[in-house]
Order: sequence, then C-alpha cells, then structure tokens
Amino acid sequence: MTAHRPTHGGLSTQSVHAGSVTPAEGAPVVPPLVQSATYYGGWHDATIDLRYARYGNNPNQEEVATKLAALEGTESAIALGSGMAATAMTLLALTRAGDHVVASRQIYGTTQSFLQQELARRGVAVDFVDPDSARTWRLALKANTRLLFMEVPTNPTLRIHDPRPLVRLAREAGVPLVVDSTFASPVNLRPASLGVDVVIHSATKYLGGHSDVVAGVVCGSTAIIDEVRRMLMLYGPALDPHAAWLLARGLRTLSVRVQRQNESALALARWFKEQSGVKAVIHPGLPEHPDHELAKEILQGYGGMLSVVLEGGSRAANTFCRALQIALYAPSLGGVETLVSQPRFTSQVGLGAKEMEEQGIPEGFVRISVGLEDVPDLERDFGRALQAARADG
Ligand code: PLP
Repeated sequence: MTAHRPTHGGLSTQSVHAGSVTPAEGAPVVPPLVQSATYYGGWHDATIDLRYARYGNNPNQEEVATKLAALEGTESAIALGSGMAATAMTLLALTRAGDHVVASRQIYGTTQSFLQQELARRGVAVDFVDPDSARTWRLALKANTRLLFMEVPTNPTLRIHDPRPLVRLAREAGVPLVVDSTFASPVNLRPASLGVDVVIHSATKYLGGHSDVVAGVVCGSTAIIDEVRRMLMLYGPALDPHAAWLLARGLRTLSVRVQRQNESALALARWFKEQSGVKAVIHPGLPEHPDHELAKEILQGYGGMLSVVLEGGSRAANTFCRALQIALYAPSLGGVETLVSQPRFTSQVGLGAKEMEEQGIPEGFVRISVGLEDVPDLERDFGRALQAARADG
C-alpha cells in the first residue's frame, strides 16, 4: 500500500510534496493513478481499514486530502466528487431534524438552495443574515443553532467579511463556523488560522486550476471529517480516482498560479479604472473597495477575481462579452484561462432587477476570473470589447 508523506514547510513546498508517495529506489516520482474501485482485504480480524473508492480512501483521494489538510492547517481533510458534495455532506453531517442553522445571505446560489430546500426537508430551519455585522449573526442565534455558514470572499461582489468575530460567537455558542473559501484558495486565505472550524472548497476552481475536474474538499478536525466521511459513504458522491489524480497534479502548481492571478487581476483592475465606458471596478485590492483595509489585514493576496460594471447596462455587457477573443465567455472560475460571465445568467439567475441591485449587482455587471495569459494581451482583448460595447451604446 502506498504511504502518504506528510511534509513541513511553506505553502509552495506543501502543495508540491504533501501527500506524495514515500521515496523508494525505483519508485515513480509522481504518485501513480490507482484506478481501482476496491482493494484486497476484508477479513474480520484484519487490522487495516477497508479501502473502497466510495469511502474517500483510495490513494489518489488520500493524496489530495493530505495536501489540503497541510495547506489549510487542519487536523484532517477529505476529497469528494464536487464542491456541492463537500457542502452538502458537511451540512448533513453537522445537523439533525430540529436543529437550526445561521447562514450568510451572500453565498453561492446552489448552496443557498441546498440550505433552504434540502435542509428544510430534513427538519432543519435556516435563517439567512446580512454578513456585514456580527450583531446580526448574534441576534439570529437560537438555543438549537448547530452551525454558522459563510463565504469569504463572496461571489460575485468580492466582499470580504471578517470571520474572526464569528469565530468568537461560534465558540461562545459551542457550534462550528463553516467557511466556503473557494474564491480565496489557501494561498490567499487560511481560515483555520483565524479559528474557523471547517473550510470547504469547490476544488473545481483554483485548487484544480485547469477547468478539467469537478471536485470538492472539506478540511477540519478528525471528528468532523469522520462524520463527513460517514455521509460520503451513505450518500455516495465520491471523487473518481482519475479526477483525484488530476486534482493532485493541479495542486502542485497552486501557489504560482494563484500568485500570478493575484498580480494580473490587480493590474487589470487598475487598467479598467482608466477606461471609458466602465462605471465601476470591483476588486479587493483597490483602495475604494469597501473591505480593502480588512482584505489587507487578513488576506495574503487579493485574488484573481474582479468584476466590472459597464455604463451601457445589460446591452453593453452582452456586446462586451460577445466581442472577446482571448477571454472565454463561460461560467466557473479559477482556471488557467480567463473566464468571463454575467451573474444575471449564472449564479444569480432568477433574481429580479431590484434584488440584483440590492445585492450590489446592477445592470451591466460582468465577472472576470483572470487566468494566466499575458496581461497586455488581456488588456488588448478587453480594450477591443469595451470599444465594441461603446459603439453599440
Ligand atoms: N462554492 C462556491 C463559492 C462556488 O462558486 C461553487 C461553484 O461555482 C461551489 C461552491 C460549487 O462547486 P462545484 O461546482 O464544484 O460543485
């Protein structure tokens, strides 16, 4: 059986080496893909745990889990078949009928639907709160509250809400604080270092980094991860070994990719500010961003995401998106290619104009996930698209 190496050192060292196979003469440097659903064993007196790909303990799944626990600084982690599998199994693991959950209003739409629809079907009540102030969270707490849930940064408005007051609140209440930190990746934010109990990622985004894998991870204490594993075994949303192998490959370059994306996104945010036809630029690295000071304090990088609001509204946004030649018009984020989307058609679909406005997503709002292309090429591409949008206005 393969041995997975825990390692010490900085984030880049960890992302390359943590979880890889112990070196032995003649052994492959790259952990092999073990495309096997099952493994020898299963005698009633055997001391080893049963291995089965649905249990999340295939060697490739374990490599990913070891890397993530090292990167997030948690006792344990587990890899699952998607970001939603990670979120759903965590919420199911931590709640029972009769419980109550407090969640931020500014979260990924499908997470919100899961909380509202699926937890409700299981007898769990959910209250959504404005995440801006710790007071609203405190007021929402009840005797039967079992967890707090938030996202940092938020999609697509890139707000940074401080988890630290909620860590204190969760401790007082004796419940875990769960943070979806997909948009940050552990390169830019390590929530567990601020006291957060459970960290969730859609590994489909920055962790995989190549838009070719759908995966999720949950990081936390061994006790909580064991409960998540129990849900994985019951509901079955396992990560296929090949997808786990691709994810581990992506993770080895996580740090350089995200650092470059941080730099490019900030450069592009500054560039967009100088362009005509752009009403607003949203990026936590800009001094006018409402959470810039907090971002400076708690983030290691401002992230590879930025949003722009075009002056010509929805029509301008459509023309802009259609005119792009390098950036690709597609949902999702965190890949090597720059992806552009309009939240009104994707994450915020179904919301009316008023609700969108209230959420800070006015007409003309375009979300950009900056990839690894050369910034001058992206500026030329966006410049051409802005020109098309202005000409159409
Ligand atoms: N969390 C966030 C913040 C997301 O943006 C997404 C997907 O876009 C998810 C979770 C769900 O991830 P997946 O698509 O891998 O299930």
